[in-house]
Amino acid sequence: MKKLGLFGGTFDPIHNGHLHIARAFADELGLDTVIFLPAGDPYHKNTGRTLAKHRLAMTELAVADDERFAVSDCDIVREGATYTFDTIQIFRQQFPQTKLYWLMGMDSLLQLHTWSRWQSLVKMVDIAVAAREGEQLNHASKALHQWLGQALQDGSLHLLQAPLSNISSTEIREKVRAGAGLEGLVDRRVERYIEQHGLYR
Ligand code: ATP
Repeated sequence: MKKLGLFGGTFDPIHNGHLHIARAFADELGLDTVIFLPAGDPYHKNTGRTLAKHRLAMTELAVADDERFAVSDCDIVREGATYTFDTIQIFRQQFPQTKLYWLMGMDSLLQLHTWSRWQSLVKMVDIAVAAREGEQLNHASKALHQWLGQALQDGSLHLLQAPLSNISSTEIREKVRAGAGLEGLVDRRVERYIEQHGLYR
């Protein structure tokens, strides 16, 4: 059975931590493909997020070298609010014979109970989680406890073994604002794109 990883994020911008965990997820879970899903422009909210077209373009540049990686604009072109539950349903319908994994960092997992229809969501996909500095599974909210225990036992929750990366998009945006270089933090093509479009100034 084919295995597909779905990796949602704001990717504002995509950085080497994202690429590091995506590669590690693909290696450790034996994924055939990882699809990066940049979030859309905020619905009825001004959050200061960079326009989706830029975040999508940077994601495309960053994943170009790994043939297991692809990008989808599924969460960008949808009208109205986009929920992960709906995204997963779209992929479930499109790939009925494929095992699906939703990939995320530990900070996201600790918020999972706030996602719309999360308890149904975790029945449609396996969840795979990368460690993140300062975030620990044993800090999970009570709302997650029962599911966590069960998912760890039945093997539908996967904890990545790879060493953690402490890069964040916040750090990248701060560095650009401060005029610092981004070497080792983002793909060179992404760094050039940020420069050319004057992002994060
Ligand atoms: P920001 O600093 O703006 O909050 P971010 O670096 O967390 O951004 P996102 O695009 O929000 O980036 O992250 C997408 C997903 O990737 C989330 O599930 C997040 O937990 C995960 N992630 C991002 N960076 C890392 C990292 N260095 N290690 C593990 N997971 C990460």
